[in-house]
Amino acid sequence: MKKNKTFAIIGGGPGGLTLARLLQLKGVDVKVYERDFNQEVRVQGATLDLHQESGLKALCAAGLMDEFYANFRPGAGKLRVVDKDAIIKMDWDEEEGQEENRPEIDRGPLRNILLNSLAPGTVVWDSQYLSMVPYGNQWKISFKNGSSATADIVIAVDGANSRVRPLITAITPVYSGVTIVEGNVYHADKNAARLQKLLGGGKIFALGEGKSLILSAKGDGSISFYTGCKVEESWLQDSGVDFSDKSAVFDWFKTEFGSWNEIWQELFQGDEFFFVPRPQYHFPTDQQWTSLPNLTMIGDAAHRMPPYTGEGVNIAMLDALELSECLTNETFPTIAEAIAYFEKQMLSRASASTQSALASTEMLHSDDGLERLIQLFDDFSEPVKKDFAEPLKK
Ligand SMILES: Cc1cc2nc3c(=O)[nH]c(=O)nc-3n(C[C@H](O)[C@H](O)[C@H](O)COP(=O)(O)OP(=O)(O)OC[C@H]3O[C@@H](n4cnc5c(N)ncnc54)[C@H](O)[C@@H]3O)c2cc1C
Repeated sequence: MKKNKTFAIIGGGPGGLTLARLLQLKGVDVKVYERDFNQEVRVQGATLDLHQESGLKALCAAGLMDEFYANFRPGAGKLRVVDKDAIIKMDWDEEEGQEENRPEIDRGPLRNILLNSLAPGTVVWDSQYLSMVPYGNQWKISFKNGSSATADIVIAVDGANSRVRPLITAITPVYSGVTIVEGNVYHADKNAARLQKLLGGGKIFALGEGKSLILSAKGDGSISFYTGCKVEESWLQDSGVDFSDKSAVFDWFKTEFGSWNEIWQELFQGDEFFFVPRPQYHFPTDQQWTSLPNLTMIGDAAHRMPPYTGEGVNIAMLDALELSECLTNETFPTIAEAIAYFEKQMLSRASASTQSALASTEMLHSDDGLERLIQLFDDFSEPVKKDFAEPLKK
């Protein structure tokens, strides 16, 4: 099937790069078109835990476990649950042996591992996809920088706001009711010293009044965080907050989280800053479409969902593994049949993941979200410590 065919992957995030690596291992001629200007662009976002049955399974098939273990972050999975006053309600750590089940890695190192595994020239940087038209039996792809490319098979891995997806289905996303503001505090030892200490190298879930604040310590000494608030879908436009202006975002935070302990304000005290508002959408859990013979999609492009179950990267990488296996499995007589089979499995899995992501979103943003989260840990695991840490002084 793969003989003499060219494959184009749109988007070089974890899903797209994993797919490129796995296809290359099977001798496939593949290029990745990525909108980032180059490899040096700083990768934002929280530390990720990779799961045995998905993210790690894909990395293992990609032959990259040694590289992974040279870059992972032991201990980064410990979780502290606090209330809005930063009073510790529960500490949870991996039980012995568990850490290997869901080891943590920062996004930047994960991306570098995948990039370094690819043949030189596989990723074509500064290639922001604009449009695509049939071109004989192929696709002709146009990019914002004026260049174009052709390919026999295109795989869209261009994330939650995929520009390619409308060529596959007209199904649009549904607003989940929660909008996130994502940010990063660089040099946290200096700019957010008390929060850095409270984090202790792990993650914090702070919950109260139906709002969430999730922090994660990163290996480069920064803290990544995201707020979660139940607001109207149009909040971004209505609020008038200028997210390129730190003081405007800080003013919004001081109002929205006005009754929370002032310690959280450290998140806005650095000189370098980065904020992105992200209204949280998901695709309908029963979404389906008729498969195309030479175009498909994986990852967030196919099944975006709120991040509260920590599955997004993992299932994007599992999609990559399963799609690579289908596309290179000679038991499928045609690529069209391979894509149809793959999409059926993917949609079924994504439906279940979306349902649990929505349930977590509702729980964490309910009035008793804190109690419900602690109860959940009580039901499913044994917290290492509970309720005995010294409350943080106000
Ligand atoms: C705040 C937050 C926290 C999260 N936390 C976690 C977590 O803890 N664990 C977890 O597993 N998941 C988490 N997720 C979800 C996770 O980030 C996504 O599910 C995952 O990154 C999806 O991978 P992807 O490769 O499909 O898409 P992306 O990671 O979005 O990658 C898409 C790539 O395509 C490129 N691109 C976009 N548009 C174009 C274009 N037009 N042309 C060319 N290239 C383009 C982008 O630059 C990017 O490199 C979180 C998400 C958010 C927002």
